[in-house]
Amino acid sequence: MAEQLRMMAVHAHPDDESSKGAATMARYVAESHEVMVVTCTGGERGSILNSSFTPADLAEHPDEMTTVRRQEMARAAQILGVQHRWLGYVDSGLPEGDPKPPLPPGCFAVVPLEGPTQDLVRVIREFRPHVVVTYDENGGYPHPDHIRCHEVSVAAFDVAGDPDRFPDAGEPWQPLKLYYSHGFSRKRMQLLHDALLAAGADSPFTEWLAKWDPSRPDVMERVTTRVECGEYFGVRDDALRAHATQIDPTSRWFAVPHTLQRELWPTEEYELARSLVDTTVPEDDLFSGVRERVHA
Ligand SMILES: [Zn+2]
Repeated sequence: MAEQLRMMAVHAHPDDESSKGAATMARYVAESHEVMVVTCTGGERGSILNSSFTPADLAEHPDEMTTVRRQEMARAAQILGVQHRWLGYVDSGLPEGDPKPPLPPGCFAVVPLEGPTQDLVRVIREFRPHVVVTYDENGGYPHPDHIRCHEVSVAAFDVAGDPDRFPDAGEPWQPLKLYYSHGFSRKRMQLLHDALLAAGADSPFTEWLAKWDPSRPDVMERVTTRVECGEYFGVRDDALRAHATQIDPTSRWFAVPHTLQRELWPTEEYELARSLVDTTVPEDDLFSGVRERVHA
């Protein structure tokens, strides 16, 4: 029997795993591989984005918010079929205003890199992933926790196999590939937008496309790997809905019929950032080159 392969996705907040690469994870789980999500922070500073969600004074009680988000995350992990670990850091929040206020003391984005790197190295050495997925250097979205998540993931990938680094954090294990996930493709949005309008339907992308900075390059220019996963878009959306405080069930996330998405864009996109195995881009599988190495 072929050895199971293992993939780890490192995310900043609970719900990020369900909006970035969730269908890919559901596919690999369905193909009998092992997938683990690591969430760096508890999402304590996430505001309630779901207007239909009005539990009495939840926002004024951060402890309750933590509890609710833990329950939501457990449910999402169950739906996706993934294992899950918390790294245990505190959400930095998204600073707003001009000038932006300083980040709260002790939050994930301001603690020295060494601490979370050691914590992630420990989880990598325990789970022993062949592939690690995280965000690019811009965080995919400019939240300080997303950028810090990138820094921690890259640092941990580079030292997890080194016996001289963090010797108390378990037996060294070197993952073979590191990817950045890329979710916000303008090309994808435009394609779905045009198809919806042509069919006489409303497009949830009108405002985004109108506000799009034309000088901003499309993430597709960085994409090396497109994973076919249209069959799992339903699982992805169910996992996202499990984060009930964070996602409005009537939002644009759910506005495009799956049949149309499968027809026009049945993939999720990644950028190969590091590879210790032989592979040729473009790829259609995060385990390309890894299967050959592990099963050799
Ligand atoms: Zn996030």
